[in-house]
Amino acid sequence: MTRSDFKNLLEQLSEYYGIKRFVNGIRFEMWFKFTEDIPQLALEYIFSKIVEEKDTIPRNLPKVINEYARIWKNSNYKPLNIKISTPCQECGSTGFIWCIRPTMVEGERMVDKTGRYLGEEVSFRCALCENWVRYVHPKAKPPATRQQILEWGYKLLK
Ligand SMILES: [Zn+2]
Repeated sequence: MTRSDFKNLLEQLSEYYGIKRFVNGIRFEMWFKFTEDIPQLALEYIFSKIVEEKDTIPRNLPKVINEYARIWKNSNYKPLNIKISTPCQECGSTGFIWCIRPTMVEGERMVDKTGRYLGEEVSFRCALCENWVRYVHPKAKPPATRQQILEWGYKLLK
């Protein structure tokens, strides 16, 4: 894998475990030296094994990454065995539902010069699937269904 693959993996893990930037430049290089021979194709598998089996981020992360890389290699190089996402109509299988939340000021919806409501784009994690699990920690984003979003008075983006 490349440095940028490794960086992505670390970023996904810190996102998942709710940790801000836990790898500095020197440590990054040291860790990368131990992991750079791992094929990029294995990373999806490694990420899902870590979050499935470890309650906190492993202290010796390169060691754990290498262990899962070995398991992946021994299970005959078939990364497609791993479920990447499950089909979900609610969120278009992305795991997230985007909408426009009206901007409120002192309990009132803000309007622009033409009288249109002002709002900001926000996303919720889909309450009906777990496709979001690779991207955010459950606590990082509240769940919602399209129906709930409409009930809250937000406007769905597609
Ligand atoms: Zn969904």
